[in-house]
Amino acid sequence: MEECIFCKIVSKEVKSNIIYEDDSFIAFRDINPQAPTHLLLIPKIHINSLNDINEENVNVLSKLCLIIKKIASSEKIAEEGYRVVVNTGANAGQAVKHLHFHILGGRKFSWPPG
Ligand code: 5GP
Ligand code: ZN
Repeated sequence: MEECIFCKIVSKEVKSNIIYEDDSFIAFRDINPQAPTHLLLIPKIHINSLNDINEENVNVLSKLCLIIKKIASSEKIAEEGYRVVVNTGANAGQAVKHLHFHILGGRKFSWPPG
């Protein structure tokens, strides 16, 4: 996936502000933040979107949830609340075709989303 910007962030070919990293995941600050705290958490392996989750890679999601919880706590947004967004496909406006979880916090969010 040579042209994937998030794969390049994983390989450190593209610089990012990394706030969490382990063998399988990396989280970094969004370049165009939509809230005081706006992070992107991604698996290091390239998965296009939630549409590509299957029996073999589904465990990525459960691990991700544990990391979200950890990050929310370390970013001090766990208590006041935060939003997790996974844009999937054209209608949701998914721009980067590498599965990513937006973690947003530090302000109140409206519902329904725009
Ligand atoms: P999507 O619309 O695909 O759900 O969100 C993609 C997100 O990736 C956007 O919020 C955008 O600001 C962020 N983004 C795109 N390119 C880069 C980059 O090179 N570095 C960082 N840190 N964020 C990026
Ligand atoms: Zn990728």
